[in-house]
Amino acid sequence: MYLKTLTLRGFKSFASATTLRFEPGITCVVGPNGSGKSNVVDAFSWVMGQQGVKSLRGGKMEDVVFAGTSGRAALGRAEVTLTIDNSDGALPIEYAEVTISRLLFRTGQSEYAINGNPCRLLDVQELLSDSGLGREMHVIAGQGHLDDILNAGPEARRALIEEAAGVLKHRRRKEKALRKLEAMQANMTRLVDLTTELGRQLKPLGRQAQLARKAAVIQADLRDARLRLLADDYVTLSPTTTSRCQRSSRGTRPTRPPPPRCGPSSRAS
Ligand code: ATP
Repeated sequence: MYLKTLTLRGFKSFASATTLRFEPGITCVVGPNGSGKSNVVDAFSWVMGQQGVKSLRGGKMEDVVFAGTSGRAALGRAEVTLTIDNSDGALPIEYAEVTISRLLFRTGQSEYAINGNPCRLLDVQELLSDSGLGREMHVIAGQGHLDDILNAGPEARRALIEEAAGVLKHRRRKEKALRKLEAMQANMTRLVDLTTELGRQLKPLGRQAQLARKAAVIQADLRDARLRLLADDYVTLSPTTTSRCQRSSRGTRPTRPPPPRCGPSSRAS
């Protein structure tokens, strides 16, 4: 695998955009103490998805953003872009050249991109995981790192070998799948609880539904009976109404009591 260029913009001591072009063979970055050589190495591991702030020699992730100097104000964002030659197809992506970018705002917002397309950290990690440029970055031996590797305990040494052998990727996938399965199991338990509870409520609800159906039948019967009664009343009362009408047509009005007198005059009499 061949790294072509690395561009730092607002990353640590690199306030202005700085591009390092690597030719095939060995590249050396030379400079006095404190000139920023390790910052270049940090930029490599950062753009490849490094999450450990300690590995980046900072207290918090935002520390990678240019913090300003006496002559230059602090910046609000850090960006690193790494271009990898992929003509040998070492990376599982159909491009002869792959550009990975990482951007971090001082507010904490972070963005990744592969060939200019926004992506997740996971996509960057997956892309690099088979190439040997894995998450644990054993390909980058920083100051004191070799010492750490030599003095590592069996667990750490195992992780190192697994990473180098490409097993770690599958182990992580297995862990992720197991976490998903656990969450699914919790959901299943909840579902069974809900089904049991609903089953318990079903019996009384069934009884209530049966009663409601009976009540509806009774109400319909009642309405029917009332209508029959009304119809019956109508038929019974009909002759009276007819004879009354006949009498009024002959001029024999039924004598009605005079209307009551009301008002102040009636009260005075
Ligand atoms: P050494 O050889 O001593 O390890 P070096 O050349 O590797 O030094 P680095 O450690 O990469 O140097 O760089 C250290 C410099 O980077 C310091 O001057 C420090 O102030 C500067 N620096 C680190 N982080 C930031 C930041 N966020 N903003 C501005 N400058 C920073």
